[in-house]
Amino acid sequence: MAHKKFPMEHDKKIALVAHDNKKRDLVEWAKFNRDLLAHHQVFATGTTGKILEHELGFKIIRLKSGPLGGDQQIGAKIVDNKIDFLIFFWDPLEPQPHDPDVKALLRMAVVWNIPIACNRASADFMISSPLMDGEYDRLVPDYDNYITRKVNLGEKSS
Ligand code: PGA
Repeated sequence: MAHKKFPMEHDKKIALVAHDNKKRDLVEWAKFNRDLLAHHQVFATGTTGKILEHELGFKIIRLKSGPLGGDQQIGAKIVDNKIDFLIFFWDPLEPQPHDPDVKALLRMAVVWNIPIACNRASADFMISSPLMDGEYDRLVPDYDNYITRKVNLGEKSS
């Protein structure tokens, strides 16, 4: 499949999300990496963002709380090329009221080839990658064939 290049700039647009049982983990991780995060543009779902802003002391762009649509807002921003990096500490041991949104968000990240970290170890490797500190061409599958596909509407009844 052909690809299209989506350039990521030096300063990246990073989305941070954590389910309630994982918020402590994310706060610890973000505090440890505060200086690395500070020069990027950081987005977060409502409650995660509120806690992070307080703990990190810099501006976080806060969306709605996850169960109220925040995950979907992040997904939409990925589609619009307004988020290029996702750290999402979701809870594997507890069902969430917005599980379909969680799945949808993870799916959009894969569709648009966004780097995603779903646990601390992955987030550590990602944030310390040399690729963080430069421009990077994200290769996204060229979906033109899909968009221009023939759709069979069946026989027209007269
Ligand atoms: P929250 O949402 O940051 O508003 O708690 C996170 C989520 O559950 O997706």
